[in-house]
Amino acid sequence: MRPNVAIIGAGFGGLCMAIQLEKAGIRSYTIFEKGAGVGGTWRDNTYPGAGCDIPSHLYSFSFERYTSWTRRYAAQPEILRYLEGCADKYGLRPRIRLNTAVTSAVFDESLGRWRVATAAGEELFDVVVSAVGQLNRPQLPDIPGMSTFDGASFHSARWDHSVDLAGRRVAVIGNGSSAAQFIPEVAEAAGHLDVFQRTPNWVIPKPDAVFGPRMRTALRRVPFLQRAYREWTYRYAENTLYPALSGGWTTDLLPKHALEHLRNQVPDPVLRAKLTPDYPFGCKRVVVDSGFYPALTRPDVDVVTDRIVRILPGGVETSAGLHEADVIVYATGFETSGFLASIEVTGREGRHLAEEWKDGAEAYLGIAVPRFPNLFMLYGPNTNLGHNSIVFMLECQVRYIMGCLAHLASRGPMEVRPEAMATWRQSVGRAMEGMVWQAGCTSWYKNEAGRVTGNWPGSASAYRRITRTPRPEAFHFAG
Ligand code: NAP
Repeated sequence: MRPNVAIIGAGFGGLCMAIQLEKAGIRSYTIFEKGAGVGGTWRDNTYPGAGCDIPSHLYSFSFERYTSWTRRYAAQPEILRYLEGCADKYGLRPRIRLNTAVTSAVFDESLGRWRVATAAGEELFDVVVSAVGQLNRPQLPDIPGMSTFDGASFHSARWDHSVDLAGRRVAVIGNGSSAAQFIPEVAEAAGHLDVFQRTPNWVIPKPDAVFGPRMRTALRRVPFLQRAYREWTYRYAENTLYPALSGGWTTDLLPKHALEHLRNQVPDPVLRAKLTPDYPFGCKRVVVDSGFYPALTRPDVDVVTDRIVRILPGGVETSAGLHEADVIVYATGFETSGFLASIEVTGREGRHLAEEWKDGAEAYLGIAVPRFPNLFMLYGPNTNLGHNSIVFMLECQVRYIMGCLAHLASRGPMEVRPEAMATWRQSVGRAMEGMVWQAGCTSWYKNEAGRVTGNWPGSASAYRRITRTPRPEAFHFAG
């Protein structure tokens, strides 16, 4: 039997899943995409300076090695073009339904199939693959008076390009990876910029480089060069960055490197003190950027660390007074702990996924949940990384799901056993003890109760090993 598959989301994950289905000759799939185009986060985040701080030759599909990246760290338009190119090359477009949000998915036990609902109605599928991402629902802060602001305001992931920042007084709330990327550009345009910082971030330099025509030709003509470069960036992340998060050999080295970067780029000791983190390196997502600190040293930029009290029609009021603003940009991150929160998912025995996850989202290998047969997740709980390419993790998950499809084709709907889930929970818990994310800091890696539900505590290579092939004993088959 060839299962028909509902894929929710047309970002890196959903496209990867569809491509592998196409390669296996399975064309009975539909991609539901709530947005107006493919690309997921790379379609949504169009803020000035948007790009990826993971090298592009690694942050791309292993089976679709692109030799045309114009930089080591490509900017958002180039990444979006890459994904659009993949959708075209593999002929996915006819099976993508744009502007079609899935509102609910209910497992019909009598049919052994999923009822997937959109505004257009309900359809039956054998398998549901969620590829909705972890950073897709912008989070606005809960600051009193936000609606009273007289000027323009928007979230960084919904950049309002109609607002001209030239010469204006701009307030940016938040200083994470998104803010760090657009602050240099906004500072250049604005008359004055206030950056409201609640917690300083660890920042390491981004060794960006242009990949000119000669380099690109070499990468195209010598496939070994491409493979070797990708492998080198992967090994660097695994052997240098990962140990800094897991108590390994770079635990002391990387924060030293970050502080040296701060000293080199910020001569003013008062500003430097404001920007110096007081929690362990890597506890929050490390910012990788070389233009952020220099922008903060500009005479027309202030880093404000006083507590925000409220928003007034004329600007942002802190405990020290009013900071007048014409425009406010909320670079306040995403709602991350709810995972599939925008979709009502109901499994066997009428179990609601949101209810099952009320104490924290969890999934076997980050992919499967007991009582939710034939539901598979990409970039699910505990599969985010703080050091390497998420595209690599997505490919591991897609390969695993393709293995599951082979099993369920012959043995009927498959559901992960609670015992396998319990063993998984324990092993993730044990591995998490050694990770820096548990240290005293707040971050989007954690849920409201303070449990790290976002991140995978092992190396990317370890995740590849354990997801290589599905173990049928971990599943119950209904067929
Ligand atoms: P974020 O890292 O979650 O940062 C949100 C910022 O808003 C933090 O500085 C936070 O302060 C601040 N904030 C939130 N609520 C606030 C409030 N009520 N008052 C004052 N400040 C408030 O969000 P992000 O920068 O959008 O990045 C999210 C993730 O996206 C990143 O960690 C990264 O994984 C990914 N990303 C990746 C890239 C890339 O190049 N690969 C680029 C951009 C984003 P606190 O720290 O005090 O909470």
